[in-house]
Amino acid sequence: MKYVLVTGGVVSRLGKGVTASSIGVLLKACGLRVTSIKIDPYLNTDAGTMSPFEHGEVFVLDDGGEVDLDLGNYERFLDIKLTRDNNITTGKIYQHVIAKERKGDYLGKTVQVVPHITDAIQEWIERVAAIPVDGEEGPADICVIELGGTIGDIESAPFIEALGQFSYRVGTGNFCLVHVSLVPVLNVVGEQKTKPTQHSVRGLRGLGLIPDILACRSTKALEENVKEKLAQFCHVPLESIFTLYDVPNIWHIPLLLKDQKAHLAISKVLNLAGIVKEPSLEEWTSRAELCDNLHVPVRIAVVGKYTGLSDAYLSILKALLHASVACRKKLVVDWVPACDLEKETEKENPNAYKAAWKLLKGVDGVLVPGGFGDRGVEGKILAAKYARENKIPFLGICLGMQVAVIEFARSVLSLLDANSTEFKPDTKHPCIVFMPEGSRTHMGGTMRLGSRKSIFTVKDSKSAKLYGNKSFVDERHRHRYEVNPDMVERLEKAGLSFAAKDETGKRMEIVELPNHPFFIGAQFHPEYKSRPGKASPLFLGLIAASCGELDTVMNPASVHQHLISNCPKSVFVNGTSKKAPNGMADVRYNNGYCNGLHSR
Ligand code: GLN
Repeated sequence: MKYVLVTGGVVSRLGKGVTASSIGVLLKACGLRVTSIKIDPYLNTDAGTMSPFEHGEVFVLDDGGEVDLDLGNYERFLDIKLTRDNNITTGKIYQHVIAKERKGDYLGKTVQVVPHITDAIQEWIERVAAIPVDGEEGPADICVIELGGTIGDIESAPFIEALGQFSYRVGTGNFCLVHVSLVPVLNVVGEQKTKPTQHSVRGLRGLGLIPDILACRSTKALEENVKEKLAQFCHVPLESIFTLYDVPNIWHIPLLLKDQKAHLAISKVLNLAGIVKEPSLEEWTSRAELCDNLHVPVRIAVVGKYTGLSDAYLSILKALLHASVACRKKLVVDWVPACDLEKETEKENPNAYKAAWKLLKGVDGVLVPGGFGDRGVEGKILAAKYARENKIPFLGICLGMQVAVIEFARSVLSLLDANSTEFKPDTKHPCIVFMPEGSRTHMGGTMRLGSRKSIFTVKDSKSAKLYGNKSFVDERHRHRYEVNPDMVERLEKAGLSFAAKDETGKRMEIVELPNHPFFIGAQFHPEYKSRPGKASPLFLGLIAASCGELDTVMNPASVHQHLISNCPKSVFVNGTSKKAPNGMADVRYNNGYCNGLHSR
């Protein structure tokens, strides 16, 4: 096993995650098997309890791990399936060491950060790197490790120390350190400044880590003299300094690395020169180019709670993108803040109310994503009602499915106070109820999480057709509430179809309105398994229905065709989310979303 460590300097949100995954893509294209580990030095055990508004979405893995969204990036870029242990946090390491201490495993010794925490980190990395994640047997060839945060952060100190020791433990030729840094351009003189990178490399060396490769984020390619200066002051060979300049969409990043021969520089450090093949990235190239050249728009409203930070819905955006590309359409996302659709907003902020409804009424399709807590729920219910009554294609995910059921009960069954007990515990008509096995007192890790079977129960349903008429699908879950089994019959009689159920037949997994062009709700989160080149079937259905091509993709042969020929297109994001988090849009990768909003 050989390791590529990716660290970041100067500022956060430089696109370390995308760089690390792109390095993985490049090495995979050289014929190597690649796995990855993300280190998050925060104290939380996992990302499950972290607010998407602060930290971006919580990504869910097959094994139910609730992890940092960068793991989603690795899964999508490398088409692998990671485990919860591939995300290391300070919380997990301390929990592990303290549990050992309580068992008496340290035989009376004083338990310390060095060596006990640092040893635990190294053992964890070695153990997890050996887990196969690409469906093949045996460990991968390369493990890409991304260290979250920026060099110099107090909380990453034990990890830096552990990784320094680790580089000796695995030996020369088995460890390559890529440092991602920023080369800002001073507007007045237009000069690319190397000093921040020099300082951050000095910091890195001071902590005992020696960079082999510099990946410099900048708006344009680095000038030759700038590279020379960096080589001289950072003691990194010229041919190991790369620029990751702004590109129209992130699928260009592996290509950028390949064009600058990053694979040769990495192979040299890892003693793989002459062993690995020339990378073939034809699919990535055509996808990246296609993505830049899509013009016919498909306009989708995402009616959510966190519309100010699109990282909060990152996998949803990616899944919409993959599906739009499969349909050769340019994705336009209109972010509709769910609260703004509500009657109360009409009184308090009539302009916001009007703007939200105007956006919603201008789209080709509506997506209501998952969520927790009651803020914006009534707005989401109104969006589902609007889509149902006006025959606009609708996809509801998790909470989005639950609100569609509540709306149906209210409007069609005339149960005006129908609700979820999550939002109104004493409702007379609880159509969404707490699942018996959940915990009411602990938030972290107490949900129905991870991959579960959904068995199709209705022949010829749209969802079954989209999934290629399989008898069941495995998709990832993250919820505490479910459709009330006692109300299923009544809802069904009124015309709501439960197209898929869990293995017991008691838990509803997919709802559909047969008399609607496309109205589907899923209790699971199909977005987590969408890949570039393998769009998620329900997202494909939403996009195809939104551009009048549903029949084409529901024909099994053509679904297959879409899935294999799915190539990226450019994305344009409208609405309320143009504000880049931390004002860092200028130095973040342009992901194809307008204004370079996303880094991942
Ligand atoms: N809050 C709802 C539940 O717990 C929906 C969860 C979700 O959308 N992920 O069931």
